[in-house]
Amino acid sequence: MESIGVIPNLHKDTGESVERLTDPGKLTKYPPGKKWMEWTEYEAREWPKKVKKTYTLVPTTCFNCESACGLTAYVDKETLQIRKLEGNPYHPGSRGRNCAKGPATINQITDPDRILYPMKRKGPRGSGEWERISWDQALDEIAAKIRKALKERRHNQIAYHVGRPGHEGFMDWILKGWGIDGHNSHTNICSSGARFGYNLWYGYNRPSPDHANAKFILLISAHLESGHYFNPHAQRIIEGKMKGAKLATMDPRLSNTASMSDYWLPTYPGTEAAVLLAMAKIILEEGLYNRDYMEKWVNWKTYMQKVHPNAECTFDNFIQKVIEEYAEFTPEYAAKESGVSADIIREVAVKIGEAGERFATHNWRSAASGNLGGWAVSRALHFLNVITGSVGTVGGTSPNSWNKYKPIVPHVPPPEKFWNDLHFPDEYPLAFFEMSQLLPHFLKEGRGKLDVYFTRVFNPIWTYPDGFVWMEAFLDENLIGTHIALTPTWSETAFYADYVLPMGLAAERHDINSYATHGGVWLAFRQPVLREAMRRLGKEVEYTYEANPGEVWEEDEFWIELSWRIDPDGSLGIKKYFESLKNPGQKITIDEWHQYVFEHVPGLPEAARKEGLTELEYMKKYGAFEVEKYAYKKNEKRLSDADMEGATVDETEGTIYKNGKPIGVMIDGVPMTGFPTPSRKQEFYSQTMVDWKWPEYAIPCYIKSHIHQEKLDREKGEYVLVPTFRLPTLIHSRSGNAKWLAEISNRNPIWMHPQEARRFGVKTGDLIKVHTDIGYFVDKVWVTEGMKPGVVACSHHIGRWRRPQDKVGNRWATNTVKITHDGNGGWKMQTIAGIKPFESADNDSKRIFWSDGGVHQNITHAVHPDPISGMHCWHQRVRLERVGPNDKYGDIFVDTKKSMENYREWLKMTRPAPGPNGERRPLWFARPFRPDDRTYFRKNMDEMGGLKPELLENDV
Ligand code: SF4
Repeated sequence: MESIGVIPNLHKDTGESVERLTDPGKLTKYPPGKKWMEWTEYEAREWPKKVKKTYTLVPTTCFNCESACGLTAYVDKETLQIRKLEGNPYHPGSRGRNCAKGPATINQITDPDRILYPMKRKGPRGSGEWERISWDQALDEIAAKIRKALKERRHNQIAYHVGRPGHEGFMDWILKGWGIDGHNSHTNICSSGARFGYNLWYGYNRPSPDHANAKFILLISAHLESGHYFNPHAQRIIEGKMKGAKLATMDPRLSNTASMSDYWLPTYPGTEAAVLLAMAKIILEEGLYNRDYMEKWVNWKTYMQKVHPNAECTFDNFIQKVIEEYAEFTPEYAAKESGVSADIIREVAVKIGEAGERFATHNWRSAASGNLGGWAVSRALHFLNVITGSVGTVGGTSPNSWNKYKPIVPHVPPPEKFWNDLHFPDEYPLAFFEMSQLLPHFLKEGRGKLDVYFTRVFNPIWTYPDGFVWMEAFLDENLIGTHIALTPTWSETAFYADYVLPMGLAAERHDINSYATHGGVWLAFRQPVLREAMRRLGKEVEYTYEANPGEVWEEDEFWIELSWRIDPDGSLGIKKYFESLKNPGQKITIDEWHQYVFEHVPGLPEAARKEGLTELEYMKKYGAFEVEKYAYKKNEKRLSDADMEGATVDETEGTIYKNGKPIGVMIDGVPMTGFPTPSRKQEFYSQTMVDWKWPEYAIPCYIKSHIHQEKLDREKGEYVLVPTFRLPTLIHSRSGNAKWLAEISNRNPIWMHPQEARRFGVKTGDLIKVHTDIGYFVDKVWVTEGMKPGVVACSHHIGRWRRPQDKVGNRWATNTVKITHDGNGGWKMQTIAGIKPFESADNDSKRIFWSDGGVHQNITHAVHPDPISGMHCWHQRVRLERVGPNDKYGDIFVDTKKSMENYREWLKMTRPAPGPNGERRPLWFARPFRPDDRTYFRKNMDEMGGLKPELLENDV
């Protein structure tokens, strides 16, 4: 092409060269750090001319999933525009790499539809009428409402509900400073099922696999596609495979991960625990288990005493009894349940046993979030780690807390004295996180109200099951007094807000991140890159919105400012937590807060000093710091003599107690930290489950899901719908403002095996009607052999919409819909227009070639809260039907009366608090934003949900 002149000669030297990527060694693909203050490269748009452009490179972190991979913003020094975002080679988690969603941050920044100024609604809520207001007005009005509620002791009417979190330690500080039990999260529609299963074993609720050093990796997928640690894990799985590791993936879909695996185990949804227990039994029977580890670190003596009191309490007897416990779980039984062949189950089990301590596993959402009893899947998976002794080892799987840095923050307020039953109700005493999916149901049945409700990067009308019930709650101002949406982009939920406050994207905000991406520990700094670029150029600003586009702010400064305005004279006792450390009486600045955090990070002061920088300057320059290169076997940390002073040791398990609390465990005569469980060991036998009325689940178990084959009527066209995956280029509910991502992924058809397609007489592109417990949706079919027969699936991150009256937003990805309500619980949604090209400052908006925006399936799902973990069980029993003449693509119907009936049905499965000693939740369980321990006992509480006044009076 060059030689015949079709394209210019790229090899001809047309002028002076700029320095290329130069540092030898690891960072050769990136501009070297010492040149980040001023980096020159050719302007791509001038190609083929060689025109130089000078940038200042500012690190930040990606906000498009939890992983917080490093990004480097190229800020044009002349125009102060962000021109692109690439990886940050100094970030130990992502190591310079990103998935497609990282660089797409630039789309979000330049999206022509983004919200640039604070807005307040004009007409009735949800009417779509807005006016621009100042930050001062928004802050004053919201602060006044909160102040009034706090003065009237209505603390439980204030709530902050977060979709995408990501600032370690910050909101604890704010909400505890206000003294409210007001945190709500999205975790019960995300990961709390898996967390619960892990927690029962070892008191930690997430796994951290060391994929890069493993010999065998087993994934209960689709965690890669679902975005959890997508890039950091993917790169290390490939690294492990390149060193010879074998990969197995359980997933009814031939996902991207499954297609890269050595073993694809397409288990029937919900049967994963049966397969895992069968594998455990094989490993035990074959003698491939790690005797030394199990004998030391499992509470087997408790199991023998409680379950087999007449048998001699020896380890050999324990192994024998466990094999007998699981006698039913033969490979043949597991094969019958799951549809995976018994031979493959045997083969994989033996490979796991042979991998021993180098066995890495991961379960995040997937099966643990899809099924009634999904938590039993992660519990059974971790069982394999325990019997192979691969917990906390090189190439094994650690608790995530070992690979995550917990920042030390200034001005820590005491735990709050309130317990909010709207978040942690009695029916779900073991729920691992807030029962957030039931919040509108609770409000509708009169359990309480919310006076001030913040949604933060949170879009429940669209993301959650039962979105129309959320819509009904938002439309009733007696249930939700004021709704404030903190969001970088318009969303289906923001349409039903009173205030929409524009919040910064990855390159426009401060956050501290640390995640368990591998067997080390790191800390990263998300920062507003234009603010930092301006600082470098000598143009300091007071507030981040002065540097960001429009008046886009960051939450940090917003919350500090709001806290001051709630308590201007300090009489509520709030203001003191948000005062400067150096200059009491003045507001703490965002730089001061972060400097405090960074100067307490082990090793960071020394690293900063070497470069002549403060800790904050170091983080502003590099964006990340490696706190520990390797972090394994932390359970073996020795207790000191001081720790042991006055301690007692229990005879059965060697648990060490001090002041009535377990602090460690004796292992071979050495006092060690152990795990944060009641026994300080891994708990094969859970007394907690017995004490809290679930004795049948005292040990790892298999629970038949709500969508088990036995519960489906195939003759009637009933199937299980798997909605727990996402196309890997999508961001939960925030892809609609990223044109590159919308271009790649814009439809969510029903995946269907050819066998099923034949049954219904449909082919790819034909319509199918999917009936759920509360309504239906009409979608297209994609016929593929990559789907297990008898199961259908639909990605849950497409089908975005707006109504004609709504502010334009996310036009790269939103259908225009008409919503009608029959006044009696019946809601209809019809697509009236697909995605179309539009005029904007971005010429690409005229070039949109796709028109199909997919279907909003989640809104037709009923709530299915697991009675134990509280996790929403996403899989749906659906009835498939050929469409009729009046059914159109995208049609949706839901009856919210049925939604409420369904909610009550699931509620009946619970076994409510109190538990032992009148506790409303086990004291040893972690709880987000944990309140004062006395609030765990209902007898201590008054009718407002706070500690009784006489108890408060005794507080020091
Ligand atoms: S995995 Fe992708 S979306 Fe997630 S933080 Fe990394 S680059 Fe961003």
